[in-house]
Amino acid sequence: MSEAPRSKALYDRATRVLPGGNTRTTVFVAPHPLYARAGHGCRVTDVDGVTRLDFVNNYTSLIHGHGHPTVTAAIADQLTRGTCFAMPTEAEVALAELICDRLPTAERIRFTNSGTEAVMMAVKAARAYTGRPKIAKVEGAYHGSYDFVEASMAPSPENWGEPDPTPVPYAKGTPQGVLDDVVVIPLNDPAAAERILAPHADELAAILIDPLPFRAGLIPAQAAFLEFVRAFARNHGTLLIFDEVISFRLGYHGAQGVFGVEPDLTTLGKIIGGGLPVGAVAGRADVMAVFDPSGGKAALPHGGTFNANPLTMAAGRAAMEALPPEAIDRLNALGAQARAALGEAFAAAGVPGQVSGMGSLFRVHFHARPLTGYRAAYAHPEERARLQAFYWGLAERGVLISSDGLGAISTPMGTSEVQALAEAALGALRSL
Ligand code: PMP
Repeated sequence: MSEAPRSKALYDRATRVLPGGNTRTTVFVAPHPLYARAGHGCRVTDVDGVTRLDFVNNYTSLIHGHGHPTVTAAIADQLTRGTCFAMPTEAEVALAELICDRLPTAERIRFTNSGTEAVMMAVKAARAYTGRPKIAKVEGAYHGSYDFVEASMAPSPENWGEPDPTPVPYAKGTPQGVLDDVVVIPLNDPAAAERILAPHADELAAILIDPLPFRAGLIPAQAAFLEFVRAFARNHGTLLIFDEVISFRLGYHGAQGVFGVEPDLTTLGKIIGGGLPVGAVAGRADVMAVFDPSGGKAALPHGGTFNANPLTMAAGRAAMEALPPEAIDRLNALGAQARAALGEAFAAAGVPGQVSGMGSLFRVHFHARPLTGYRAAYAHPEERARLQAFYWGLAERGVLISSDGLGAISTPMGTSEVQALAEAALGALRSL
């Protein structure tokens, strides 16, 4: 990386009070992260005064970039009336109505403060509804930090199990009891999934599926795989949960609208909060009834001091209202351009690599293996090193993607920003 003295000084100061220098594993990058000062539209300025094009968008949550005028106005308006109450608000009702309108399978919804909590509550809802303990998930898929969904989130060739995945702990100290209640299936392999799931069929509360799992490669789930999990769940009294925390942005009716699948529950986050902390679990009314305390005690009590706080609700509503179908189509077209341009940059630079993704999302890979699933996408040490060098090469050329290779288009962007990304990528790849 080139000199960033103020970021370096902040990092040194930070490590005296924050382990690793910040509060978010994902934003650490060696030798130290760039610390942000401000963001405007699709650009972010760091504390050293360097402004860059932002393709991270806080890991895809800022679909309108930074400081979108109607989102900012909605937050400012709510601020004058209070930030949180131990009372529900109309802002909560309005965002709930908006999302239930857009998401075909959302008959009811409840809000959380993060995608992690949304997934946790969806899993607990499935357990409460079915009275069963186990969940199934796709190898390598990230669903936040609830212990159960962390299983096999980042297994390595040494421990991932052959030929079928075995549940591998992510965090040191994960209880074996947690792993015993998780079943891990490979992406896009219905035959293997059936073989692995069948012995657990009567104990499975839910199958948790992200139809475009970033950490498993940002490889779209195939129709045959989705048809299989939908049918298996239905046939065995198991719920199908779609994790659309990232992938809701793929279509006006979410990823499920694009993939043509009807999950029983859906988890949301990121873009639905307009840049403020958010998550949501939505789905079938009979399942969501587990949250309902009106008949006495809810089957699944769900507290949370800041759940559905009106600032987030107002910001989320403004952000969603500024995202009509045409805006999503435009983002998706720019995403296709970005993937194509990055692929051309790899070819022109003669560096082995490829780009995956869908809609307005892309991920770069420093290898040319066919992207069939987590194991093929798994970055080996030298590939990770090249990705890290590429990250800094882009940053030196005025472009930010995430240090794990993810990029997202935001509405303030256009073809010139995609071109700037492609030029920076070519320069960065040539200098590897
Ligand atoms: N599910 C998916 C698919 C995600 O990508 C993420 C976050 N990147 C989460 C859940 C967790 O969301 P949060 O970071 O808001 O807790």
